[in-house]
Amino acid sequence: RAALHWFRDDLRLADNPALAAAIAHGPTLCLYILDEGGERRRLGGASRWWLAQSLRALQASLREKGAELVLMRGDPAELLPKLVAAAGIDLVTWSRRYEAAAIALDRGLKETLAGAGVTVRSFNSHLLNEPWQVSSKQGEPMKVFTPYWRAARARGEPAAPEPAPQRIVPLPLPSALAGAAVDLADLGLEPTRPDWAGGLRTEWTPGEAGAAGRLGDFLSGALAGYGDGRNRPDFVSTSRLSPHLRFGEIGPRQIWHACQTASAAGMAAGGPSDLDKFLSEIGWREFSYHLLFYNPELATKNYNARFDAFPWGSETEALKRWQRGQTGYPLVDAGMRELWATGWMHNRVRMVTASFLIKHLLIDWRQGEDWFWDTLVDADPASNAASWQWVAGSGADAAPYYRIFNPVTQGEKFDPRGDYVRRWVPELARLDTGAIHAPWQADAATLRDAGVRLGETYPRPVIDLAFGRQRALDALATIRGAA
Ligand code: FAD
Repeated sequence: RAALHWFRDDLRLADNPALAAAIAHGPTLCLYILDEGGERRRLGGASRWWLAQSLRALQASLREKGAELVLMRGDPAELLPKLVAAAGIDLVTWSRRYEAAAIALDRGLKETLAGAGVTVRSFNSHLLNEPWQVSSKQGEPMKVFTPYWRAARARGEPAAPEPAPQRIVPLPLPSALAGAAVDLADLGLEPTRPDWAGGLRTEWTPGEAGAAGRLGDFLSGALAGYGDGRNRPDFVSTSRLSPHLRFGEIGPRQIWHACQTASAAGMAAGGPSDLDKFLSEIGWREFSYHLLFYNPELATKNYNARFDAFPWGSETEALKRWQRGQTGYPLVDAGMRELWATGWMHNRVRMVTASFLIKHLLIDWRQGEDWFWDTLVDADPASNAASWQWVAGSGADAAPYYRIFNPVTQGEKFDPRGDYVRRWVPELARLDTGAIHAPWQADAATLRDAGVRLGETYPRPVIDLAFGRQRALDALATIRGAA
């Protein structure tokens, strides 16, 4: 008896039922395959950096348990059957994935391996509920978050997470296939020149231990007051668990149970509403996967087909200014620069920057989705696509298109002292709080005293807000009533 666990988006040892099943079966070969061909969307730059660090952490923790992580690159549909045959493996395990191309690949492999007499067992380690486990009373996919989450919660507590295995009896790679294994550095995941990852290294500790650390900090910190605090980008008001969840360094069951335990022990000073609000954000992640599963083209196709006729503009210069954080709107620029530097952006600012692109600049949401896909360390096939469509108004249970965030009032409300802008847009750091979210409205003396020269040290607004807003509403009017 010999097993293979194929790691994918479950880069952890604890709460990994697929890994546990392999270990219980017999000596286990632990494998990761970098699969960049085929139909699957290529990972963005920031995700590739994260993945490299996460694999390094997983290598180290597997080694502590007595096993090695074998790395390969190529097409799993070719590699796995060869490997399984050469090593005499009779059980293959993996955690399920939910993008259409990955599902198709896994399904095909399952058939091929079954044909060769190998058992494949797949498990859920990524979600509280499988997408198909939650449905309307009529058995239909859900389209609205609140009833979705109600139905999901009515299914009861998620199973308690299993601890990490004590020891793994390793199954060595057969010598005939030793040449197929590669070193981490050979996967080419990390930037070389220029090395743009300095800010990411400072900000993050990828890997299972880093994820547990973030969760611990959150439970004893920002969870108290999360209900209101979560909207504030100017301090650490949320868990920052998203990239860890994305790569499966921690699972939602673990987060769920740790939250319950902490709140029962009174560890988190927050009330039940803070906890409920936080769990419902985990619920939005689940809902996004539900949407992706039933709408495989969520990242490229309007969920609401009415938007297919939307008259998007094509201003490439404005898109560049948005990407570089040079729009002249301080909150938007702060967010885009935070994203570039750290691979992450606060949710409130993601909404404001996305709305600004889609509405004030009238740029197709898919351009924004693509940029986020490349630059976010938490770039997620479900949450990114669902969130962009949510902001665009083309998604399921989306914000209506005519709700247009004003970056100035959003800044005044959620970054009231201007600390967030000062941190990421240092050329405005000396501006008075009253002027920091709308420097073009400040008088000459205020700007001079702060060393700001509009158009030189900091850009003038890329577009007039009232003009952009009206243009967006006019564009919307053209598709009202479209089928
Ligand atoms: P917390 O507030 O601590 O929430 C805990 C967890 O809940 C998060 O880690 C995340 O997994 C989940 N979550 C929270 N809010 C949402 C949400 N609105 N939708 C789905 N899941 C949510 N999230 C991603 O994980 N990957 C993405 O690629 C992504 N792209 C986004 C793009 C846009 C335009 C917008 C508006 C939002 C996007 N989000 C995405 C959702 C959200 O902004 C992030 O999940 C959140 O900011 C991550 O920070 P956190 O871990 O501190 O969140």
